[in-house]
Amino acid sequence: MYNAKAYSAASATSQLAPATIPRRDPGEHDVQIEILYCGICHSDLHQVRNEWSGFMPTVYPIVPGHEIVGRITKVGSAVTKFKPGDLAGVGCMVDSDRTCPECKAGLEQYCPNMILTYNAPDKHLGGVTYGGYSESIVVDEHFVLRVPSNLYLAGAAPLLCAGITTYSPLRHWGVTKGKKVGVVGLGGLGHIGVKLAHALGAHVVAFTTSQSKVDDALRLDADEAVVSRDASQMQKHARSFDFILDTVAADHDINAYLRLLRRDGTITLVGAPPKPLDVAAFNLIMGRRSLSGSGIGGIAETQEMLDFCGAHNITADVEVIPIQKVNEAYERLARSDVKYRFCIDMASLRSE
Ligand code: NAP
Ligand code: ZN
Repeated sequence: MYNAKAYSAASATSQLAPATIPRRDPGEHDVQIEILYCGICHSDLHQVRNEWSGFMPTVYPIVPGHEIVGRITKVGSAVTKFKPGDLAGVGCMVDSDRTCPECKAGLEQYCPNMILTYNAPDKHLGGVTYGGYSESIVVDEHFVLRVPSNLYLAGAAPLLCAGITTYSPLRHWGVTKGKKVGVVGLGGLGHIGVKLAHALGAHVVAFTTSQSKVDDALRLDADEAVVSRDASQMQKHARSFDFILDTVAADHDINAYLRLLRRDGTITLVGAPPKPLDVAAFNLIMGRRSLSGSGIGGIAETQEMLDFCGAHNITADVEVIPIQKVNEAYERLARSDVKYRFCIDMASLRSE
């Protein structure tokens, strides 16, 4: 075991502050990673503030961070995929049972024994797992991803959560050329969802509550952008979408989007608002529409997504910050005031 510098929160109302956390020495299947960048996901904010207390109560102190890229510093004797010096990524999971039907199908994210990168039981050291707002992490190689070397590294970090969380449902629901696809919410997930749907060949419409993001949406590869508070702009798209990806982090009217689906169209929720959403049955019945959800993606699919992003040169638009600005970044993220993902330059932690 060794100590690593990190930032942690002591309670739902505390600021993130410097801390020292234990990390295990790498075992035979483990790799040790010096963390270079870590994205700030809205899930970090939900969990630091214990907003998901009904589903996954936060254990304090919490060290968030699951959009991790770094360089491998050590590997265990049985490691085959990596060597010291390689670039590596870690997303939302660090372990699963690897024997259940979900794991066997490559869907580790739905394994009943999946271990999240932070705030999940740590079978090695006891207590809970600690995430990427830290200088290093030790992870079983099965849960470590290869990061294409042509990608801008700070912009690649958010792919480890925002990238796979949008890629997986786009692929699962058959988004391809000839499909009309909506992406609701132009935040961290949404802006990558727009880029990925465009690269998959779809006609992409971005829905935003922010007039200031309309021009940007087109620059980000959307074919059209709609201000969702404008009923007449919404009405123009009634009954026309094959698929809509909803990334909104707060309470909102899902019925307004159900009405935009064509027959047999699907809305998938990836955004996880703390409060239940109201759904009018008739908006599903009329047109045999579906409402579904999707969680991150499996390890093989995460690698496929990273390779796809490498081939299409897709990264997140990031505002890189030193870790000392993390609390300010959380305040701004809560107000949707970021274009489009905060990413922490972890060199700022090492020099603290
Ligand atoms: P984010 O950067 O804050 O983006 C969310 C966007 O939703 C905002 O930028 C805003 O876009 C829109 N929005 C916010 N409040 C709204 C409101 N009251 N009404 C309508 N639209 C609103 O967050 P993120 O990091 O992309 O995460 C989005 C959600 O996905 C979070 O709940 C997060 O926990 C969840 N998530 C789920 C998974 C999964 O596996 N399913 C994985 C990662 C994250 P506009 O300004 O364009 O309107
Ligand atoms: Zn996330």
